[in-house]
Amino acid sequence: MFKLELRMPVQALQCEAALERLSKTHPLRSTIEKDLKKWLKGYNGEKEVGYYLSILPDEQYYIFHGLRLQDKKYFQMDIVLLSPRFILIIEVKNIAGRIIFKKGSNHVVRIYDQQEEGMDNPIYQVVRQHQQLRNWLNTFNIRAIPIEHVVVFSNTSTIIETTPDNQGIFQNVIYAEALLEKISELETKYQHIPLLSHEKLNLLSDLLLKEHTIHISDFFQTYKLTKNELSTGVQCPTCQTFSMQYISGSWRCQKCKCSSKTAHQKAVEDYFLLLHPTITRKEFAEFLQIDSITKAKNLLLALQLPSTGSKRGTRYFLEKNCIFSP
Ligand SMILES: [Zn+2]
Repeated sequence: MFKLELRMPVQALQCEAALERLSKTHPLRSTIEKDLKKWLKGYNGEKEVGYYLSILPDEQYYIFHGLRLQDKKYFQMDIVLLSPRFILIIEVKNIAGRIIFKKGSNHVVRIYDQQEEGMDNPIYQVVRQHQQLRNWLNTFNIRAIPIEHVVVFSNTSTIIETTPDNQGIFQNVIYAEALLEKISELETKYQHIPLLSHEKLNLLSDLLLKEHTIHISDFFQTYKLTKNELSTGVQCPTCQTFSMQYISGSWRCQKCKCSSKTAHQKAVEDYFLLLHPTITRKEFAEFLQIDSITKAKNLLLALQLPSTGSKRGTRYFLEKNCIFSP
């Protein structure tokens, strides 16, 4: 059962929003486009792996996509599989080409398009997460459940290689299609340990969900952008231009003449993704190019966002882990 559904990564949403609002000739476009592709690749890899996991019996396995918890530092795991016998951390890699794990140096090299480049060792990455999850569980006095980890390559055309004396890595590095086999191996390995009761499993699952926090990173800092490089306004859902004006209770496109009651929602989300985690009426009016603060206030109130402060100083923000987009 999916307890945390797969969602588009926040970073991909940020890149998409920025590309809509940056000029067509902006020098950072190609960098952001490249990064967007990378995030979408990761997302598609997880989708592929999620397909295999969806075959598992619902009541026995709980699946969490993108769980982000806080140990000393925050850590995010691609997929966590919770069963009554063990927890499996799955690090998903969707990378084309040849991946070579070198034994002596523990270095990983990727060869693609006749180009060779080093990459972070995904085994170390998932081992780190393993340790962090263990620490995290300890702080809640949950010690009995074993943790396992695995790196899953979602693309079967990826060639994974290592030296003959380093074949041990294939215990923890597999292709997506071997994942169900791996899970059944773990079931056998832990068949003699006491089962976590259904009630305890649900308590742990609720705790994981309660402690999970989505993070919206500072996009402007990441890409060294300034606020005035983004165009403001509300985008037309039909012709995609930022030509919508708010006239007598609805948004009208000055270019293609279409109208919408909800076109501003995307703009508000863009604001939260790109500019700041909170928004005032004045900032809302400026960013959406609404000429009256009263209209801005009414539109904002209709969104029913949580808020702090009062009157003109009221700051509205998104509910925890809630992003409008699907
Ligand atoms: Zn239009």
